[in-house]
Amino acid sequence: MTSYDKIWDSVLEIIKENTTPISFETWFKPLKIRRIDNNLNIVYIEVNSDKGKEFIISTIKNRYLTYLQNAFKKVLNGEYRVVLKDSEEYKKDELKNEPVKVTPPKKILNKEKIFNPKFNFDNFVVGGSNKYAHAAALAVAESPSEAYNPLFIYGGSGLGKTHLMHAIGIYLLEKNPDMNVLYVSSEMFTNELIRALGEQKMNEFKSKYRKADVLLIDDIQFIEGKESTQEEFFYTFNTLYDSNRQIIISSDRAPNKLVNLDDRLKSRFQWNLIADIQPPDYETRVAILMKKAENMNIDVDDDLYDVICMIAEKIKDNIRELEGAFTRIVSFSHLLNEKADKNFAKRVLKDVINNNDNLVTPEKIKKTVAKYYNIKISDLESSRKTNNIAFPRQVAMYLIRELTDSSLPQIGRYFGNRHHTTVKYACEKIEDDIKNDDTLKNVIENLKEEIKE
Ligand code: ADP
Ligand code: MG
Repeated sequence: MTSYDKIWDSVLEIIKENTTPISFETWFKPLKIRRIDNNLNIVYIEVNSDKGKEFIISTIKNRYLTYLQNAFKKVLNGEYRVVLKDSEEYKKDELKNEPVKVTPPKKILNKEKIFNPKFNFDNFVVGGSNKYAHAAALAVAESPSEAYNPLFIYGGSGLGKTHLMHAIGIYLLEKNPDMNVLYVSSEMFTNELIRALGEQKMNEFKSKYRKADVLLIDDIQFIEGKESTQEEFFYTFNTLYDSNRQIIISSDRAPNKLVNLDDRLKSRFQWNLIADIQPPDYETRVAILMKKAENMNIDVDDDLYDVICMIAEKIKDNIRELEGAFTRIVSFSHLLNEKADKNFAKRVLKDVINNNDNLVTPEKIKKTVAKYYNIKISDLESSRKTNNIAFPRQVAMYLIRELTDSSLPQIGRYFGNRHHTTVKYACEKIEDDIKNDDTLKNVIENLKEEIKE
C-alpha cells in the first residue's frame, strides 16, 4: 500500500460516514489519488472505471467537491484543492508536458494517524503570541510525562494548535520510533466510540486508547455536551494519567470556558500547565509568510516582499487564512504567468479581503440550492408543492434566514410571495431535521461553504 492509498482510505472513511452506501459505491469507490502537490496544495484525483466516467466526474464536481475537500482537509490538515480528471486525460497531459513526477508525500505514518511533516517545530515561527505554548510543547516533546502533564493548549482557530500537536508527535516518533503516540481530534474519538458501541467492539476501543504512551487529543471543545464521550474520555484520561503517560489536549477555549463539560474533566485539565496562543503580531505574521515562502522554495524579491507585508497588514487573526492568501497569490501568478506584485495580489485577493459578507445574497443561495437538488430556480419560486421541490425550497429558506439579514416576510417574497408563517415553519423544520439527520446536516454545511465561496 502506498501512502496515497492510506491517505485515500482515511478520506473514504470520512466520506463513508456521511453518505449513503449507494452514493458511496457509485461516486467515490471508482476514484483514486493520482498525485498530491504539497507546494500548491492540490490533490489530483483520477477516475478508474469503465462505465460512466464523465458522469462520475461531473457529479463529483457539481455536488461533492467541497465535501471531498473537507475530507482532505481533515486527513491532511490543510486546505487542498481537488482536481478531478479521467486517467486517460492525465496520461495525455503527461505526454504533452514533462512527465508528472509521482513522488508520494513523506508522511509519517503511525498506525492510522498521519502527521503532516510540514507541521514540525522547525517550521513553527515563534513570537510573543505563542512563545509560551511553543516552549511548553517542546518541553513535553523532550521529556514526555516529566515536564508538564497534562498539557493543555488553547487558542482561536488557525493559530497553530494542531501544528504544535503534530510537532510534538513528529518529534517524539523521530526520537522514539516505537513509541505508541496516538493523535485524534475529539470528533474522531467520538465517532470511533459510537462505531465501537454499535459494532460491539468496546474492548478494542478501550485498549487502543489505554495503551497509548502519549495521547494527543485535538479540539477537545467538540465533546462539550456529549456525555457518553466525556465519560469514556474521563476513564481513558485516568488510566493514562495514573500510569504516568503523557496527555496533551488542545481547545479553542480555556478549560473554565468549556461550559458543557463535566466538572471532573474540567478540573483534570487544570491539574498542570495551561498555555494559550494569541493572534500573532505584525512582525510574526511577516515572519510566518517568509518561512512559508522558504519552504515553498520561492525567492522573495522586493515585489513579493511588498505583497507579504500587504497580506500581513490585512489578515490578522487567523494564520490559516494568512497562509491561504499567500499560496493563492503564488499559485495564480504561477498559473497565469504574471508577476506577483502588489497590484496583482490586490486583484487575486479581492474576494478574500473585506468583502466576505456581501457576497452572500438570497439569489446566490437559491441558485446553489437549486443546482444541488437539480431543479430550477423558478421551481423554488413556484407554488408547486411536490416534495422534490418543497423540501429544497425549505432548505433555501432556512439558509437565507441563517446567512443573510433578511426578515421572514422578505424571505417569503423571494419565494413567490409566501406568507411569513410558512417561512418560519420551514426554518424550524429544517433546524429540527438537522438535529436528527447527519446526512442532511452535512449537506447543509457543504451548501453553506459553497455559498460563501
Ligand atoms: P489551529 O489548529 O489552531 O486551528 P493550525 O495548527 O491548523 O491551527 O494552523 C493553521 C495554519 O497556520 C497551519 O498551516 C500552520 O502550519 C500555520 N501556523 C500556525 N502557527 C504557525 C506558526 N507559529 N508558524 C508557522 N506556521 C504556523
Ligand atoms: Mg486545529
